[in-house]
Amino acid sequence: MKGNFAGVIINRLALNIDKIFDYHIPDDLIDTVTVGSHVFVPFGRGKKLIDGYVLSVNDETDFDGEVKDIASLASPEPLFDEEMLRLAAHIKETCFCSYISAIKTILPPGSGNKRKINDKLIRGSRLNLPYDEAFEMLELLRTKAPKQAQILELLIQNDFVADADITFLTGASYTAIKALKDKEFIKEEVIEALRMPLNYDEIAPTKSPQLNQEQQLAVNTVTASIKAQKTDTFLLHGITGSGKTEVFLNCIENALQLNKTAIVLVPEIALTPQMVTRFVSRFGKKIAVLHSALSLGERADEYKRIKRGEARVVVGARSAIFAPIKNIGVIVIDEEHETSYKAENAPTYHAREVAEFRAKMSGAVRILASATPAIESYYKATQGEYKLLSLHSRATGATLPEMLISDMREELRHGNRSCIGSTLMNEMQKNLNRGEQTILFLNRRGFSTFVSCRSCGYVAKCKNCDISLTYHKHRGTLTCHYCGYTIKKPEKCPECDSPYIKEFGTGTQKVEEELKTLFPGMSVIRMDMDTTGAKASHQTLLSRFSEEKTDVLLGTQMVSKGLDFPNVTLVGVIAADQSLGIDDFRANERTFNLITQVCGRAGRGEKRGRAVIQTYMPENQTLELAKSQDYLSFYNEEISLRKSLNFPPFCDIVSLLLTGENEQELCAYSAEISASLNKVMAHDIKTQYEILGPAPASIPKIGGKFRHRIWVKCKLDEKTQDIFTRLRNYHIKSDKNINMVIEANPYNTL
Ligand code: ADP
Ligand code: ZN
Ligand code: ZN
Repeated sequence: MKGNFAGVIINRLALNIDKIFDYHIPDDLIDTVTVGSHVFVPFGRGKKLIDGYVLSVNDETDFDGEVKDIASLASPEPLFDEEMLRLAAHIKETCFCSYISAIKTILPPGSGNKRKINDKLIRGSRLNLPYDEAFEMLELLRTKAPKQAQILELLIQNDFVADADITFLTGASYTAIKALKDKEFIKEEVIEALRMPLNYDEIAPTKSPQLNQEQQLAVNTVTASIKAQKTDTFLLHGITGSGKTEVFLNCIENALQLNKTAIVLVPEIALTPQMVTRFVSRFGKKIAVLHSALSLGERADEYKRIKRGEARVVVGARSAIFAPIKNIGVIVIDEEHETSYKAENAPTYHAREVAEFRAKMSGAVRILASATPAIESYYKATQGEYKLLSLHSRATGATLPEMLISDMREELRHGNRSCIGSTLMNEMQKNLNRGEQTILFLNRRGFSTFVSCRSCGYVAKCKNCDISLTYHKHRGTLTCHYCGYTIKKPEKCPECDSPYIKEFGTGTQKVEEELKTLFPGMSVIRMDMDTTGAKASHQTLLSRFSEEKTDVLLGTQMVSKGLDFPNVTLVGVIAADQSLGIDDFRANERTFNLITQVCGRAGRGEKRGRAVIQTYMPENQTLELAKSQDYLSFYNEEISLRKSLNFPPFCDIVSLLLTGENEQELCAYSAEISASLNKVMAHDIKTQYEILGPAPASIPKIGGKFRHRIWVKCKLDEKTQDIFTRLRNYHIKSDKNINMVIEANPYNTL
């Protein structure tokens, strides 16, 4: 539609200008300016031009004042269309974020730059600040250090950007990058360039195996819905190796034959070259891959192939749900229970929900696949909202490992203070003798090596954040994992002068040392954040391990998924309790999933595997059910617990996180917010709700700022969403020195 006026959103993150401004379209641009156009406009009192995005084109304007002209186009082509704009509007409504940050989710990466990076290792940067603080810093930097501001903005929009891309795109020098690193606004990271099978011709095409009856039934059911353009959601449940991937590959094939397209989301960590090869071998050049280990230029190229319709199946991690693909027939979410599908920074969308909206917009079906579906998803299947498709047998006859639970309290009673119990030790010895490999897993979530005094109980804590400092033995330092505050490890207790101030807890380093004492001569590869930093990369360590010359792979979360080594016959979970102890209603679910995944690592080959789970609470029911790999019993237990305590899926949980430097002011304001919310909800909504707090957050202080939380249990619908949106607007207008972030159903509750 052609019109004379354009509604423009300014490309600035300042909250007070996060609205649509009307501009006049000059005659020379009347044929080119459309929804999605990237334009320069005069803004503010000066003559300065700022870029923005056109959200609407109209014949008239309601604005009474002087309507200025759009100055020029900032990009030759429109960057999004009406459909993608509707998606952004949905994100804005459901994530309680600014309009501009919602728009940014649908923009092409790097907006049209072409630069290839062929180095195997990419040195780059990542944001090192909470999102809201990054905004504040951004506005401060704009006048003082505009180049640094540009870099910061780039990193707010993109998880990880190669330094070469940063300098190329912003025209800034490495000095500017370094300045931001020195301020700890951003941090350096070296990642390995993913060897994408860009040379499609080298991958031999494959065909689907003959499907078994259950698989065929699943494919037929889904295909019928695709054909009928029903927006059904299917929950595809089956243990690892039961052939779920084959099912959705076949559904995609059928969708393509119906001239439709597909989006496949996989967890970032599972997006391996093997996985991509499997897709390319089936769909060839129709595949586009979106991965954060691609350079921005490569990502932008993939976007173009999608837009032009050359690529018809998009495979990618979370943000691939925003791929500008048309005529979608099926959206697949593999490992749908993975928490990485929820964005941690604003907009804090969940890919599963965005997929629902997109599926409805384009008349597509959704397939959610998992061996351990999210409790929320399985509940929907039992309620008939999702259609359950179950696969009961393993496609390839491999067997589940034998599970052994090892009671660590017994060990202590027998004087074994090592973190390796006798059961695990014996099994490891067997593996050593037979030349088979072992993976040891250390769950480090909410768990770190801290230093305390054995005489008086003093614990070394961060002066900014009030959480215990982590001991780094090789540097002899204590560091705060939230704000980076670092001190030398004290020789004597600062409280009582006792020399018995020592580390507690178990880190991978400590386990490695114990292994060396217990098994002299055994070879160990340790894989955690420290070792996968700059020196050796993830992939290098893994290929060293897979050459079968190393006895043990020891690591954190990274070793729990997606690895497939035929000679690994033993998996040890060093401390299963660590994820059970967390103060979070999802603790059981996390533990069950974790053990399922870890144990899936043992015995992928011909030989039957064993898994040893070490715990201080062997009678814990979640561990028992994880041991027998009984998802349904676990689900039944968990769902009745959730019901009795009124947790999701029986309600939604909305978190309001308020942060500020002045504790008194923060307390008063949080109380005010909580009270007025209560008033509005009592008046406006008929359904049940509950407001908890305000109370100091689990981490009450980070980087000099106090943190208070209000939890609201309610049913999220248009009405309640509107209440939170109004609350957010009220807060922005109040112009307090306090920051407030509203998030629906957060995973991070610290
Ligand atoms: P899942 O996604 O449930 O883990 P996959 O689809 O990856 O399972 O299947 C596991 C293995 O079994 C793969 O190597 C796959 O090629 C093979 N497979 C799946 N279905 C069949 C089948 N019907 N006949 C033979 N092999 C199959
Ligand atoms: Zn002391
Ligand atoms: Zn700190």
